[in-house]
Order: sequence, then structure tokens, then C-alpha cells
Amino acid sequence: MAKVRALAAFSGGLDGMLACRILMDQGIYVEAVTFGSPFFDPQAGRTAADHLGIPWREVDFTADIVALLFDPPSGFGKNMNPCIDCHAAMFSRLKEIAAEGDFDFIFSGEVVGQRPMSQNRGSINRVKNLSFTGDVLLRPLSAKILDPTPMEESGLVNRDLLLDLNGRGRTRQLKMAKEYGFSHIPTPGGGCLLTDPGYANRLKTLKDINLLSGENARMIRFGRMFVLDKAVGLVGRSSEENDRMLEADMGIQLDIQDIPGPLGILLGEKTVKNLTLLTAIMASYTRADSAVTSISNQNESFTAERIGNEERNNIIVTL
Ligand code: SF4
Repeated sequence: MAKVRALAAFSGGLDGMLACRILMDQGIYVEAVTFGSPFFDPQAGRTAADHLGIPWREVDFTADIVALLFDPPSGFGKNMNPCIDCHAAMFSRLKEIAAEGDFDFIFSGEVVGQRPMSQNRGSINRVKNLSFTGDVLLRPLSAKILDPTPMEESGLVNRDLLLDLNGRGRTRQLKMAKEYGFSHIPTPGGGCLLTDPGYANRLKTLKDINLLSGENARMIRFGRMFVLDKAVGLVGRSSEENDRMLEADMGIQLDIQDIPGPLGILLGEKTVKNLTLLTAIMASYTRADSAVTSISNQNESFTAERIGNEERNNIIVTL
């Protein structure tokens, strides 16, 4: 008989690892997919999948999640996190990938009640309905307190061997991890920049001036950020950060001439006014009273006196 095949939505957390293991214990073949974007790093998924010894792949989710940030049908959480619609979009994508790869069903390590907004019983059902995955989506860790899925009813999965986890506690999960002999036990929570108030503030600023895109969202993780005219300026805080901004190779790069100083990046409208103001901001992070900057690999240069503290404080977007 052909082995049952299941595909996990897998962030690399402990719950996801356990969900995989309890299905593997039933003889089910498991692979894992981790979604990546400027807001969440897929590497934790790779590490955890390696630890379990299961095939893993990364799927770029940037376009999906950025589209949701404009007007998520189910709204935002506390910050810029559209968790319910994000989960639904992930499961929709996963269902498509599963169909292409001839998988029998998809699953996740979600636990009912673990997150007050996005993982209560109502949200879990809403995600299932929004993503049209009721026929293929299993939550092995809480299956016994949810309605039986078609996979359990048909005998593809043995419901008796699934769990009834409920709530935020981790005691049972940690006990199981020990019994399984996991040497890699990921710490809970965190990881999504959309839930970070400082980063969300920056992203909202981009959105308000019509500059929200995946590339810009990635770039505003760096530097101090300032609001210009239909543009934002980023100013490196250390030489390491300057290097990372250069590596990202985004926007218009401004270099200070002749004196030590930070790197500047302009995202948005490239006007003399914006570039001169950015120069004034960059000058304020040097020991000099003024600075001359030029755009990388170009002859254009801009000269400005350092901006005053009060004026600078009025346009900085705190992180
Ligand atoms: S925390 Fe981030 S990645 Fe997780 S569901 Fe919410 S928006 Fe999506």
C-alpha cells in the first residue's frame, strides 16, 4: 500500500516538530514547508527539519503577505500583523503545493488557545474556512478537541493517536520533546517583525506615503529612518550596518565625501530637496558642521549644513 503523504506548514517551532513526529509515528511520510518574507526568517524551519531528518523547502511568501498589508479582510492584530488572513493565505498556498506534490493532506502544529487572537477556536475555524482547506487541513496537536477531519474519518490518520492540547502551557510539549530525545528545542514565540511595535511603525509610515513594497519593507530593517517628501531616508548606525545596507543594494545610496560618516539610503522620490535633506541628516551624525555627499558611482553631489536636533527629531521614525 502506498504511504500516506502529509505536508507541514512549518515555522520551525517545537509544536510543529511534535506535530511531524506524531504523524511519523503513524507511518505517515512527512515533508515541511517554511514560508519566508522580509518579516520572518525561514532558517529556523530548516534547522528544525534537519533535526527531524525530513525534507524541507522554503517558499517565498513576500508577495502574498505584502498584498495583505494593504487591507486585510480580517484586520490587524496589535501591530501590523494580519495573522488570521496570513494563516489563511499560507494554508491556501500549502494546499496548492500539496496538490502538485501528490500529498494526501496538509497540517500544522497549531494548538487551540495558544494565542489569544489568532489561535482561539473561532480563529482556527475562520482560517480553515477562509483558506478553503477544511477537506485537507489537520491540526494533530489539538485534533481531539476539534471536529474530526475527513482524513480521520476515512482512516487515513488514526485519530486515537492524535492529541488534545489546549492553551498556552508548554509542559506537555516539553515532556514529549524529552521523550522523543530532541536535542534541539526551539524557544517559543517571536520571529515575526509585523508584531514588533517599532518595526510596525516604520512599515505604517511606508504605507502612508505609498512606498510599501517587499523590497522597501526589507530595507527599513536597517538604520535610523526619516520621513522626507514622498520618500524616506535611512542612515546607518554603525559600520556593520552600513555594510549590510550596501549588501542589500536597494534605493539610492549616498556616500559622505572626505570625512568619516554614515551611509545614507533614499527610498522613494529622488529629488534634490530630498537628497539635500538626507545629506543634512547624515552630516548631523559626523563631527563636522556640514557635509558633501554623492550618489554612488555618479557625479551628482549635494552639500548641506547639519540638521538641527529639533528638526531631526520631528522627522525621525523611532524603532
Ligand atoms: S505572526 Fe506574522 S507570520 Fe505569524 S501569522 Fe501573524 S502575520 Fe503571519
